[in-house]
Amino acid sequence: MSQELLDVQGLKTYFPIKGGVIRKTVGYVHAVEDVSLTIGEQETFALVGESGCGKSTTGRSILRLIEPTAGQVRFDGQDLCALDAEAMRKKRRDMQLIFQDPYASLNPRMTMRKLLEEPLRTHFTQPQKEIDERVHWIADAVGFSRDQLDRYPHQFSGGQRQRISIARALITGPRFVVADEPVSALDVSIQAQVLNLLMQLQQELKLSYLFISHDLNVVRHISTRVAVMYLGRIVESGDTEAVYCHPMHPYTQALLSAIPRRDPSEPKTRIHLEGDVPSPANPPKGCAFHDRCAQCMKICSEEAPAPRVMPDGRRVACHLFDG
Ligand code: SF4
Repeated sequence: MSQELLDVQGLKTYFPIKGGVIRKTVGYVHAVEDVSLTIGEQETFALVGESGCGKSTTGRSILRLIEPTAGQVRFDGQDLCALDAEAMRKKRRDMQLIFQDPYASLNPRMTMRKLLEEPLRTHFTQPQKEIDERVHWIADAVGFSRDQLDRYPHQFSGGQRQRISIARALITGPRFVVADEPVSALDVSIQAQVLNLLMQLQQELKLSYLFISHDLNVVRHISTRVAVMYLGRIVESGDTEAVYCHPMHPYTQALLSAIPRRDPSEPKTRIHLEGDVPSPANPPKGCAFHDRCAQCMKICSEEAPAPRVMPDGRRVACHLFDG
């Protein structure tokens, strides 16, 4: 990994469950449970897992768009959880989010020019001339001409709207971007264009990405390291190619077995998981995956496995790899 930019340790995000007439807290949804990860300068680190596994909540908790319940998030050596609201607001110019849905995330009453000016006015005090120069610069960078700046979102295609969302995220000059399912609302034919744009901008602007996706092929294409999440926890993380070629955790093996083969002559066995993902409001004792794991042992329902570092550097949380 290149020089470290983001260091997350023991991140937990719980949401209270209210019940009864007086709306008392009767429990908690454990959306993110003890997540630790690091992301280097100009690295793309992916979070992958099924819908509802806590990927998006992890990304938003890192940015403190959702307040974490516990844990530490250090960005460029600074503890973000210790910042007050005003200091965190200023820090957000360095840390931005690209939303999944370019249809919902753009105000339909604002032209592209106004949409791009808005983050600059929120984070900086600049003369109009500098704002204009910055807007023209980012419009060029994401492939729009000047005469498109005065159009409204409905006058653009889905791929173009996502390029506007990317431009809005990058116009403040961030170093770190959480890209939350940035291509999943787009046609497959447009996805590659947007992914290539993200990779090109990463090189040009020296960006680090936390790339969140349920699409295993997209993650393999774009990331250098990957973490697999299940029920709010990271169960396996490491170099993307190593994890994809030789998954070690039984859940990673099942997840990756669903990817179509590149070469149809390759032997491949799809692992079908029994049962449903347990509720994060009532996570099982021990390993969260034990109800569905074909290799479950007695200890698995009693003790949660701690992540172990494997000889190739990846981390796996599974009792199969204990001592
Ligand atoms: Fe399966 Fe046990 Fe490993 Fe959990 S800890 S994945 S139940 S073998």
